[in-house]
Amino acid sequence: MTTDTTFDTAVSLRRSPAFSDADLADLSRAFEGGGPHEVVGWACEAFGPRLVLSASFADTLLIHIAREIDPDIEIVFIDTGFHFAETLATVRRALEHYSLNLSVVHPNLEPADVWGSGVESCCGARRVAPLERFLAARADAWLSGLRRDDSSDRLSAPILGRDRRGVVKINPLASWTRPQLDRFARDNDILVNPLTSAGYSSIGCWPCTEPSTGDDLRSGRWSGSTKTECGLHQ
Ligand code: SF4
Repeated sequence: MTTDTTFDTAVSLRRSPAFSDADLADLSRAFEGGGPHEVVGWACEAFGPRLVLSASFADTLLIHIAREIDPDIEIVFIDTGFHFAETLATVRRALEHYSLNLSVVHPNLEPADVWGSGVESCCGARRVAPLERFLAARADAWLSGLRRDDSSDRLSAPILGRDRRGVVKINPLASWTRPQLDRFARDNDILVNPLTSAGYSSIGCWPCTEPSTGDDLRSGRWSGSTKTECGLHQ
C-alpha cells in the first residue's frame, strides 16, 4: 500500500479533450445494454494509466472486475480518519488478496476536528478535497461503484458522464440491483465488509453511519439530517 499525502496542488478544473459531453452521453446510452466488464474494458482502453478507481471497501466487486481487465489499475481509498475498524480491516484483506496498486489519501485536518463546522464542511474537507487533489494530479477519468438503486437521488445516474471537476466519471455498476450484486459477490468470492451483514447497506464514517432501514439503502447515512450525499458524486 502506498500512503500518498502529496496531492496538495491546487485543484485544476479541466476537460479531457478526447470526448465531448455529447460523445459521453452517446456512449453511456450504448453501454446500457452491456455489463460492467464491457464498460471497464472501454475505460481502460480509452484512458490507460490516467484511469483510477475510487473504492469505499464496502466490498471488492468493482475492484475484482477492474483487475480482471487491468491488474495494475490504480485504486484510491480516501481515509477520512473516521472509518469503521471493519472497513480498514477490509482494506487490509483486499491488499493481501489482490496485491492492489493502492493509494491512500488523507484530509489536511486533525481527526479531532470532526464536525467542527458542520457535516457539509467535514465531508468537503475529509472526502471531497482529498479526492479532488488526487484526481487533479493523477487522472482523466475515474471509476466508482455508484448504483441507481442505492437511493432515489441516484435513480438517473448515467453510466458515463463528466463530473463538476471536468473529469470523466464512470459508474459501471449503475444499472445493477442489490440482488445482482449479491449474486455476483457470492459466485466470485468477493470480499465483503462484515458490516454489510449487520444491516449497513451503505458504509461511510462511523460518526455518520447507522444500519439502513426500509428500501433506501443509504438511509443509514447522516440519519436524522437532510444530507444524502458526501459530495464526491456531484
Ligand atoms: S461522513 Fe461524517 S465524519 Fe465522514 S467526512 Fe462526512 S461528515 Fe465527516
